[in-house]
Amino acid sequence: MHSSDGGTIHIIGAGLAGLSAAVRLTGSRRTVAVHEATAQAGGRCRSYYDPTTDMVIDNGTHLLLSGNHAALSFIAAIGSTSGLHGPGEAEFAFIDLPSGEQWTLRFGVSRFPWWLFDKERRLPQTAVVDYLPLVRLAWTSVDKRIGDTINCSGPIYERLLEPLLLAALNIKPPDASAKLASALIRETLGLGGQACRPLLARDGLGSVFVEPAIAYLREHGISVAFQDELTALRFGNGRVSRLEFTKQTVDLDEEDAVILAVPPYVATNFVPDLQAPSSFRGIVNAHFRIDPPAHLPPMLGVINGTCEWIFALPSRISVTISDGGELFTAPRADLARAIWSEVAKVSGLPHTLPPWQIVRERRATFAATPEQNALRPMAKTGWGNLFLAGDWTATGLPATIESAVRSGYRAADLVSQQLKAAA
Ligand SMILES: Cc1cc2nc3c(=O)[nH]c(=O)nc-3n(C[C@H](O)[C@H](O)[C@H](O)COP(=O)(O)OP(=O)(O)OC[C@H]3O[C@@H](n4cnc5c(N)ncnc54)[C@H](O)[C@@H]3O)c2cc1C
Repeated sequence: MHSSDGGTIHIIGAGLAGLSAAVRLTGSRRTVAVHEATAQAGGRCRSYYDPTTDMVIDNGTHLLLSGNHAALSFIAAIGSTSGLHGPGEAEFAFIDLPSGEQWTLRFGVSRFPWWLFDKERRLPQTAVVDYLPLVRLAWTSVDKRIGDTINCSGPIYERLLEPLLLAALNIKPPDASAKLASALIRETLGLGGQACRPLLARDGLGSVFVEPAIAYLREHGISVAFQDELTALRFGNGRVSRLEFTKQTVDLDEEDAVILAVPPYVATNFVPDLQAPSSFRGIVNAHFRIDPPAHLPPMLGVINGTCEWIFALPSRISVTISDGGELFTAPRADLARAIWSEVAKVSGLPHTLPPWQIVRERRATFAATPEQNALRPMAKTGWGNLFLAGDWTATGLPATIESAVRSGYRAADLVSQQLKAAA
């Protein structure tokens, strides 16, 4: 634990929200203790060895955009920026599966969305005026469904907005919150190509987001206790007075604080009357152990297929399908075959199924509807020493790494301010 001059900050959960809160607190002179229920950090953003494919795989390929400034600052702080890879310019290759038609969207490198005014960079056969729905979405003020805000059909929707919004919001876009879409567009497309460069942890999430964070925390005297599951919070005098874990009980002093960085369905068990998102959407990932052909782009958007994004990674090809709820009951081998047949068609690889693994994350993110978005709580709670973090708290962003890191930073800053004021 970090050497202290009074008070311990307990962080519950070592997902990216908990880890980023801990990283932010390395400058604080308080003791910081991270408690994680499982044997591994990273939560929904993790790598692990899969014996079936004999590969280290990610629970899901995660994409950052160069405009995700909090996520990038977290990675810079823990020293793993070099593990992120992406093209020099913001470009996204697409293929229409039935017709085989291919195109690449190039947003350039500027700090203004000049790409909208450049015929070469826009979608083929579209004019600036066709992009008005994007502007309407970006400046939406009331939270409605996207389907009630813009027309969800036509080339701009099908070839730009639908794949982008589905990937970022993890819900069929017509049902999604226009406000969350607005935040996303203003922080990425609205800031020009410099904010839209896609960045991938090509060699695995663990080596970029998780292991360097644990090492950094250790170097700064902060330990992460694994298999240390919180089972109850006890309250008294408007504060958390005791933490009960499976293996220990910790009574809290006046100067101690708690950052609860667990998923919403766990937090609501611990915090009385906590309102939080209660509906979720799943993500399906398929991983194939095979060398991708040189002509396959690092990242390919698939329109009108089951696959949504195909990633060409070192010695493997991975496929992501967002809001893939209907695929959760399909037999795994059938799903692997169906996905591989599309990959084979797109890549020219043989139809013979290579070693594969399917990862289905049922509660990948909260359902990004206006109703669920309205349930997100602030970091500060009614309990004096309890703060919330997690991609599901009221960050104004969809449930993403960026949201998780911003929530962790926010909770850490609130704790620091409070302790400073009390000193
Ligand atoms: C398949 C998939 C693909 C994704 N793709 C992307 C993407 O491309 N880009 C992107 O930006 N985001 C993506 N995301 C979202 C991103 O992973 C999450 O937003 C982020 O990881 C959430 O972090 P968190 O810390 O808020 O929550 P979590 O990762 O859920 O962390 C919570 C932690 O709390 C621990 N915990 C739970 N209960 C207890 C307890 N009682 N005691 C102690 N610890 C406990 C958990 O074990 C976990 O480690 C994806 C998510 C999934 C699942």
